[in-house]
Amino acid sequence: MIIILLGPPGAGKGTQCERLVEKYSIIQLSTGDMLRAAVKAGTKMGKMAKEVMDRGDLVSDDIVVGIIADRIAEPDCSRGFILDGFPRTVKQAEALDKMLAAKGLSLSSVISMEVDEKVLFQRIEKRAAETGGARSDDNAETLKKRLVVYREQTAPIIPYYKEKGALKTVDGMQDIDSVTKALYAILD
Ligand code: AMP
Repeated sequence: MIIILLGPPGAGKGTQCERLVEKYSIIQLSTGDMLRAAVKAGTKMGKMAKEVMDRGDLVSDDIVVGIIADRIAEPDCSRGFILDGFPRTVKQAEALDKMLAAKGLSLSSVISMEVDEKVLFQRIEKRAAETGGARSDDNAETLKKRLVVYREQTAPIIPYYKEKGALKTVDGMQDIDSVTKALYAILD
């Protein structure tokens, strides 16, 4: 089972991923988490990524595609995985298609979580409060930039998958449990 969960920052992708991981015994691959781990570890790539992430921009396609290519080659991905925060550009989506085709794999589902932009500010504010400001990009100013980047660079992957007939949508404005139920209904 290979799933892509799409949606703007604050849509609830991470929260729902945790539930899908448990139910379907697959692993979550979050490029944001991987990049934050590199930042924490102080690697050269992490130092470069931090600046880009704090601005709300996207890390280069080559870097994230390389990270995902290495990660999905690991044995724990053989049962399947759910991509959270990747792909984020059409170029990344095309690279993923090639990567999967080379392994004889294909996507099971691409699910877009649709959320009204107005609530995203409240959700990110809540996350910042709950995590004690753990993420330096969880603030109104950076979120504004992340939303512009989402609209301009990430939203075009929705028609990309729609044309392939692979796209499903869920209403991400519902409460957390209802969104989970809608996701299970698609995936079961
Ligand atoms: P996220 O945790 O998914 O919200 O990602 C946090 C930040 O990491 C993003 O705002 C980007 O700067 C960077 N990032 C995460 N995933 C990607 C990706 N697939 N492509 C480029 N940048 C990414």
